[in-house]
Amino acid sequence: MNAFSTVHDLKRALEQKKISAAELHTFYQARIEKYNPQLNAVLETFSEEHVPHDGLLGGIPCLLKDNICQAGRTTSAGSHILKNYKAPYQATVAHRLHNAGAHLMGRTNMDEFGMGGSGEFSAYGATKNPWDLTRSPGGSSAGSAAAVAAGLTPFALGTETGGSVRHPASYCNLVGMYPTYGLHSRYGMIAFASSTDQVGVITRTVADNALVATTLSGHDAHDATSIPMAPKNYMASLTGKLPAGFTVGIIKDVLDSDGIVPAVRERFDASIKQLEQLGATIKVVDIASLRYGIALYFIISRAEAASNLYRYDGSLYGNRAKEAYNLAEMYLKTREQGFGAEVKRRILVGNYVLSAGHKDAYYNKAQLIRAQLRAEFEKAFHEVDVLVSPTAPTLPFKLNSLTEDPIAMYLADYFTTPNCIIGTPAISVPAGFSAEGLPVGIQFFGPRLSEELLFNVAHAFEQATGYYTKTPAGFE
Ligand code: GLN
Repeated sequence: MNAFSTVHDLKRALEQKKISAAELHTFYQARIEKYNPQLNAVLETFSEEHVPHDGLLGGIPCLLKDNICQAGRTTSAGSHILKNYKAPYQATVAHRLHNAGAHLMGRTNMDEFGMGGSGEFSAYGATKNPWDLTRSPGGSSAGSAAAVAAGLTPFALGTETGGSVRHPASYCNLVGMYPTYGLHSRYGMIAFASSTDQVGVITRTVADNALVATTLSGHDAHDATSIPMAPKNYMASLTGKLPAGFTVGIIKDVLDSDGIVPAVRERFDASIKQLEQLGATIKVVDIASLRYGIALYFIISRAEAASNLYRYDGSLYGNRAKEAYNLAEMYLKTREQGFGAEVKRRILVGNYVLSAGHKDAYYNKAQLIRAQLRAEFEKAFHEVDVLVSPTAPTLPFKLNSLTEDPIAMYLADYFTTPNCIIGTPAISVPAGFSAEGLPVGIQFFGPRLSEELLFNVAHAFEQATGYYTKTPAGFE
């Protein structure tokens, strides 16, 4: 066993009794104590009461993003307003991991309420990228990705509304999936934009991702949007080969865009060659409305965020401003003191696009184009089996380089927001490194409920390239 063991490696070692669940717990706790001060990826670890050892993930430690409720534990969503909030119940995904024998070890840092793409908008300080401590690990599931990359946990859960699992996974040389909307329960996940919010798994390998997704699968009666589906075994889909006659569509915007930096383009082109060697036929596919993806996401996610965050007014839970002379002032001061600047910006925009005078021009129009985008993706999947693009157009950027330029940060989501808006799955996998050794990721998109296909393709690509075996220096 070493710090960068996969979930599968650890599972085998546990099954062969080469190591015990308690030893694993001590091992990762010690690593968190040693390395987290540099990274600020983990907000809290739980002192041990009982280490499970039965089930598909029997005895395997994990960390959950701070917006996934773990009963009786602080769940702050990276926000000051929920600093002292203790979750009164267990999120379904946490419950399912626990039932599969996983050991829920702590919670990870994140952009406040998932609103950000760098980890820098956390009320608890920025998370650093283990591949280069002066750079961002991506966001908003920044802590989950940095913790897996540095070997502080074998896997972690993140959440994604518009890229927040895939983006940090790609910046940290990891695998991250946004599943079909409704596949993993949202019960107990603190809402940002409910029509696209999903839990996603962050791992070192595709097989690990498929294994954890297997334990999360199946309908949840607590979530009205949960797909009524029996649990699945995603491991069964990993053949190591592409299906015969397999066709991959390059999203045309990738070829046209001047926003993609040369190092990412170089890795993307090499990945396409690799896919050809694996037997794929490559086509170019135009999704004409893709270029509206960020605008749609901007409008829809802010509108939903404004509604979802309405509840944090100090009256029900969370922090309450102390010095207020009447109710209205209490609401105002609580929100003024409790939310960070990015969250406030989004609430403002959300209320604006929903207001009586503007909703036709923005929110309602966005819903129309959303339907158009969905139709265009569906049509594309009649021509090709999967679509492919870089996960992020740039390399992991320097900390503090974009915090004063929110628009530049929003543009980093060009390729990750469109599929979230229409609720279809995508998986990001490592695609190699830039000259200075920074990770680059590519992603595969599939139609609704094509997770098995996506896991299979990503696994075949990963096994042929092996980039996941490289780990960041300084965390041995
Ligand atoms: N970076 C995106 C944003 O700032 C994605 C966030 C997310 O998926 N939670 O909104």
